[in-house]
Amino acid sequence: MKNRRVTIKKISRTNDRAADIQQNNGPLIRRRSPSAQVFSISELSPRWRQTGARMSATTKCYTSAMSTANDLTLDNKRLERARRYDRIHNWLFLVDLLLILVALSAMMYRGERGVSFALLRLIEHHLSTHRWIATAAYLGAVVTGYVVAFLPYHWFKGYYLEHQFQLSTQRWYQWLADELKSWLVMLAVVVPLGSLWYWFMRAAGAWWWLWAAAGWIFFQVILGMVFPVLILPLFYRSRPVEDTSLLAAVEDLARRCGVRVLGVYRLGLSAKTRKANAALAGLGATKRVLLGDTLLDHFTPQEVLCVLAHEFGHYWHAHLPKLLVVTGASAVVGMWLADRVMRALAALLGISDLTCVATFPLLLLALLVFAVLTLPCMNALARHCERRADLFALETTRDPDAFISAMTRLAASNLSNPEPHPLIEWLLHSHPSIARRIAAARAWQAARGSGAI
Ligand SMILES: [Zn+2]
Repeated sequence: MKNRRVTIKKISRTNDRAADIQQNNGPLIRRRSPSAQVFSISELSPRWRQTGARMSATTKCYTSAMSTANDLTLDNKRLERARRYDRIHNWLFLVDLLLILVALSAMMYRGERGVSFALLRLIEHHLSTHRWIATAAYLGAVVTGYVVAFLPYHWFKGYYLEHQFQLSTQRWYQWLADELKSWLVMLAVVVPLGSLWYWFMRAAGAWWWLWAAAGWIFFQVILGMVFPVLILPLFYRSRPVEDTSLLAAVEDLARRCGVRVLGVYRLGLSAKTRKANAALAGLGATKRVLLGDTLLDHFTPQEVLCVLAHEFGHYWHAHLPKLLVVTGASAVVGMWLADRVMRALAALLGISDLTCVATFPLLLLALLVFAVLTLPCMNALARHCERRADLFALETTRDPDAFISAMTRLAASNLSNPEPHPLIEWLLHSHPSIARRIAAARAWQAARGSGAI
């Protein structure tokens, strides 16, 4: 089989509680009617349908080696905690959104006589009236103000709550150091990009939104390239996997999946959390497989391979380039709408110059509303990709039992509500509920016969 090169699949979104392999539980399966999609073999490409037909001696060697998996199960107590954790985070999503909307609105209230313009005038008075310097200083001040104002909220969500649910392994000063690093990363991203953005607005006139959309897409590609080598190391340690039997099994799986793996790394998640995760990350020369140590140490080898096969499924279906096209198109529409909304609100607020950086909160407000309105559509698309990747994992590993136990173990370790309310799932979740994923695996098992090869 001709190998295809790995593209990025960055899943390690630290602010996204839905890990790439989203969790759900075991008991849920008994209660839920499996409304999940039953995948048909006719959907599958014959080219890779055969790749999972045989587990090579290499993989057998790895999977029959030590199995140190902890006894992570979803008993009733853990299930109740997962539901409570989910409920709290649903409310926090709303709180988060409202806080930001209120903060941005407050900054733009009273237009040129409001807080945002006052801040810019202050900078121009005390620092410089040079447009580039004043713009950069203004953006830096806004980022810093956001980090400071939201610090208590972030502490509650990212530290207190994670400790309450026994998910975090961080000390308070380590958490604070991460906040500091996040602040620096935001400065490094927002100040130059925001400055360029407003230059676009001045230089491109009425067509600024098209330039901004193109710039945004370009930024997404660059971010994908530098993420594993520049940003990820700021927050997590990683080192090449040295377990030769695991390496051989990964390479074997990659070969059978038609994926070319450039590097396999052990990601030190356990220094911060008990949650498990895995990812394909990077672009071009930075492409690599990242396996959380929480995954490697607490999951069986068979389960690890199922998780990996899921990631390879994203590659096989070229989900990343496809999603880039969709988000690119969405960016063009979003920027155009932002332009319209900004012009309308500026007229309402009596703002004469939209290319002034003090309108930044207005721009964020317009983009945020657009992002929230399109969130269900983007999530529906993401869930479709996840279902395809799940099916790929089942077809290539032919080990539905390991797939199901991996899902259950992820739900247990990450405290994922296995059965969220359908409306919440439709609105907010980028992955199908684990109940649906397990039901789909059981349906696949029933249709194809069980028995790992
Ligand atoms: Zn996935």
